[in-house]
Amino acid sequence: MTINLTSDTVTKPTKEMLAAMMAAEVGDDVFGADPTINKLEAKAAKMFNKEAALFCPSGTMTNQIAMKVHTQPLDEVLCHEYSHVYQYESSGYAFNSGVSMNLLQGEHGKVTAETVAAAIKPVYDWLPISRLVVLENTTNKGGGNYYTAAEIEPIKAVCQDRGLALHLDGARLFNALVETGETTQQMGALFDSISICLSKGLGAPVGSLLIGNQEFIRQARRFRKVMGGGMRQAGFLAAAGIYALDNHVDRLKEDHANARKIGAVLAKLDCVENIRPIKTNILIFDVKEPYTADSFLAKMAELGINGVAFGPQTVRFTLHLDVSDEMVDQMIDLLNNFDS
Ligand SMILES: *Cc1c(COP(=O)(O)O)cnc(C)c1O
Repeated sequence: MTINLTSDTVTKPTKEMLAAMMAAEVGDDVFGADPTINKLEAKAAKMFNKEAALFCPSGTMTNQIAMKVHTQPLDEVLCHEYSHVYQYESSGYAFNSGVSMNLLQGEHGKVTAETVAAAIKPVYDWLPISRLVVLENTTNKGGGNYYTAAEIEPIKAVCQDRGLALHLDGARLFNALVETGETTQQMGALFDSISICLSKGLGAPVGSLLIGNQEFIRQARRFRKVMGGGMRQAGFLAAAGIYALDNHVDRLKEDHANARKIGAVLAKLDCVENIRPIKTNILIFDVKEPYTADSFLAKMAELGINGVAFGPQTVRFTLHLDVSDEMVDQMIDLLNNFDS
């Protein structure tokens, strides 16, 4: 049995999800004529109490479009140095939007209002214009750490006060919300735009949503087309998204419980140190020399456990929908018997 903890993107549609996909009513979405996509977009907008939403092929695209709509060339985007928009989108911010990044520091992937306020540049001809703040919730490279609404509120206040827009990269937002008990409406009120992934913990095969006001989404729709993301009968994919939002949110708690169980066993291994606080479905830890992340992962692969290297000594395991209780028990057994 392989236990694939490479990412929460490795999930495959369940039978029920596939059935929902096959039953979808579709049309040409470039003409706005796919009823299932329209339904998903309306559903997402309503969930977050925003005016509109846009179905896109990936979370990279929703983030790229958001940065494009919020900025002009020579502006800068403020974000944590661990952010996906900086680390893992191939410098698309420079390519697509002609902006630079003002990288902020903070514990386990999170920034504070003070850090943001201190980093906003004064207006001079020789400086970029600080235009947009991007928060990531949960934070991937931060080990699945999350923000509460109370932590975001003062950041929003700084943005409003200084005239900056605030975008949420909420690829794993629902992992945060099932822990905090806070609502999508609360998040909607805090951000100018929100991106959520349907293809991570929620288990859809493809798709992300960008959510915002009418005018923002009108412009976003145009940039989606420019980026080649105008899809035709993609309602088959949107149906998976609707199914995921209806059925796969609450169960994210199980992934978090599994992460904690596995983390407790990892913590006992001699070769493991510095496990980041386990907040949601992501486990990030360092392995001690002579192990490297790669050699540790090779050992794990021999046992049928897959993860990814997140640095020379750093390993990430990610829990998801396709990891059964049986797999977790087996992994715990294997780790308990692992001679590190
Ligand atoms: C996965 C991810 C994305 C988007 O990824 P895609 O693979 O392009 O869908 C964006 N932000 C974060 C934090 C992510 O983890």
